[in-house]
Amino acid sequence: MSLIQKQYEDLRKRVKKSELENQRRAFQETRNRQKENLASIDDLEKIKEEVKRIRSESVGNWDLLQKAISRLEGNQFKVIEAKDSKEACEIVLKEIGEEKLVVKSKSNISKEIGLTSFLIQHGIKVIETDIGDRIIQMTGQRASHYTGPACHLSRYDIAQILSKHLKKEIPPIPEDEMEAVKQDIASYLKKARVGITGANAITAKEGAVLILHNEGNVTRVRMRKKHIITASIDKVYPRLEDAMTMLRLETYLATGALFPAFIDIVGGRSKSSDIEKKLFYGIYEPESVVVILLDNGRRRILEDEKDFSDLLSCIGCGNCLLDCPTYNAIGSSFGADGMLGGRGVALASLQRGIREGIEDGLFLCTTCGLCGEVCPVGIDAGKRLKDLRRSSLQSPEIYAQLNEVTQLQNTIDQYGTPYGEMARTEFSSLKRHSPVVLYIGCVGMSIETEPVSHAIELLQRLGIDFTLIDEVCCEAVKEETGSSSNPERIRMNIEKMKEVGGREVLFLCPTCLKTFLDYDKEHPTGLFFKNLPSFLSEKFLFTPYNHENPSLQTEDEGNFKSIDKGKPRTLRQGYTGFTSMEIDPTTVTYHDPCHLGRGLESFDGARELLKGLRVKLAEMEHHHRESLCCGAGGGVRGFYPKFSRDIARRRVREAEEVKADILLTDCLSCKHNLKQGVPWEGKIKVMTTPEYILKGIETGKIMCLRKKTAS
Ligand code: SF4
Ligand code: SF4
Repeated sequence: MSLIQKQYEDLRKRVKKSELENQRRAFQETRNRQKENLASIDDLEKIKEEVKRIRSESVGNWDLLQKAISRLEGNQFKVIEAKDSKEACEIVLKEIGEEKLVVKSKSNISKEIGLTSFLIQHGIKVIETDIGDRIIQMTGQRASHYTGPACHLSRYDIAQILSKHLKKEIPPIPEDEMEAVKQDIASYLKKARVGITGANAITAKEGAVLILHNEGNVTRVRMRKKHIITASIDKVYPRLEDAMTMLRLETYLATGALFPAFIDIVGGRSKSSDIEKKLFYGIYEPESVVVILLDNGRRRILEDEKDFSDLLSCIGCGNCLLDCPTYNAIGSSFGADGMLGGRGVALASLQRGIREGIEDGLFLCTTCGLCGEVCPVGIDAGKRLKDLRRSSLQSPEIYAQLNEVTQLQNTIDQYGTPYGEMARTEFSSLKRHSPVVLYIGCVGMSIETEPVSHAIELLQRLGIDFTLIDEVCCEAVKEETGSSSNPERIRMNIEKMKEVGGREVLFLCPTCLKTFLDYDKEHPTGLFFKNLPSFLSEKFLFTPYNHENPSLQTEDEGNFKSIDKGKPRTLRQGYTGFTSMEIDPTTVTYHDPCHLGRGLESFDGARELLKGLRVKLAEMEHHHRESLCCGAGGGVRGFYPKFSRDIARRRVREAEEVKADILLTDCLSCKHNLKQGVPWEGKIKVMTTPEYILKGIETGKIMCLRKKTAS
């Protein structure tokens, strides 16, 4: 069985719908709190830029790391560097000494190195002291968010878990549950003599460790006899102020709050010089503070795999998880321990190997780019995962086990389309000499032929002189799934476009459009590539009825109506635009295709056109730059069809929430997937913008305009 199929079957059994629903509700809470508090943040974008700058100057700055180490040591910290997980675990074990119980607070590094299971194997009881982490520890599950580890569990799930684990009935009342976990943790805090924490930042100038927390547990954990801090070498910041700027941002993005309840700044052991100004250390606990600085492949990535070095700028806010389509369809199975979501999969793949990366979800990402948009430091995990997919296919052993990927590629190579022998609608009668070429793309040729027919009909009715060519696949899907496309295919298409006299090329698929535009940057073709709605808005005026524009008038009734009868025929020349006589009561919403919106920065073409027609446009919760993926991209539709449909369902649900009657989009692949997200009893109609205009003309809601001629 191929690696992808095995993973797909396993995930289908493992992923629980109810947990995903809980997680989505919790994520929504965070988003709502972010929105509520946004106005109280001075300038979020400026803070993000500042943190990005600080991270780019600090991560991989070995002088800064050395300075931090010597300052920490000067402050009586014991600093030990660990090259990998094994070494780090062994160091912790040695530092724990004879103790058999340790209390611990949240630490992604301890998850990354598998510390808890290692210590348990060595006979040490490890107790998490963060409420969420303690609950998760009882279930043996993976945390679902960095700061909300149990957010996939409802109060009812938690009551059951606690009742079973604490051997007493705990009611599903959050206050009672909280109290029960607190008492459980407190009993261990009293006894433990070793406390382990993570670190959110280490500052080089002061030699201090900053730990952010809300529950107050960190202060208790670090006041044991020995405090062990696990941190990675990318956690160093130049100064306290820099770390504080990052912590404010992290807090806001992780929880929506403006400031955490606590930031513990540990500048060494407790000390006093109150007697004769002589300096004494260790007045109160801890007697010693040990900082373990983990490398675990980071130095190699920063020095030898520079294309991936941005992955280490992560501040651990988890903002990329909240809306990630895959994370919302699969949960924490998309990621590795302590490294969740796309960025986590990418980093874990580099650390532990590609096979493990595939198990963590290397091929589950739709490559939608949303994480790059919302990440405060601009980590575009989708891009990194695409690069890693490419590396995965370079290993013959892995290649042999990626049947779905290799089959897809072979099919494209053999048939010139990912749909292989499936029938293609070639629209042969339309091929002739013309300056305008309509490039349909494989989805339109094979599985979404109806919107293509509608687009063709619209162009014909508008009297546009256009042609089609014998297309071959642009191979964008190959790039998405890990192998390189063959530029020769694009060249062949371009040759054919030029042969028929083409100057402007119109696209129905933004992925194809982007592929041609990228090619054009490298090898200028002299052709103009654009999507069909942009072409329409350039050529025609979309305007409310002509009260404001007396130089235009609608076509007279008789002539206009006659075009709707019988076979479509070319309108006579002279049409200059479209108008709508009255406001259509239908509510329309617009889905920005990832490759058109984030990919080509094109958001307003269709919207402007709809505005001109006075369409009642309701934006979904996620739109423009933060639009959600339809679930088709990155090979997910082919490799993991159920999850692809779930992603589409989530998107359609957003359209339902704004009470849309029509969900418009300008990508045939999106249209195809979004249709699958409409439940059988659902009323929403999924259409492309050209289809919507055509339908409007047919029903008389949209009228063509022509220049007023002197009578
Ligand atoms: S990748 Fe970006 S958004 Fe995601 S946790 Fe890291 S910093 Fe936050
Ligand atoms: S590219 Fe999209 S699917 Fe992939 S990790 Fe980022 S948000 Fe998630």
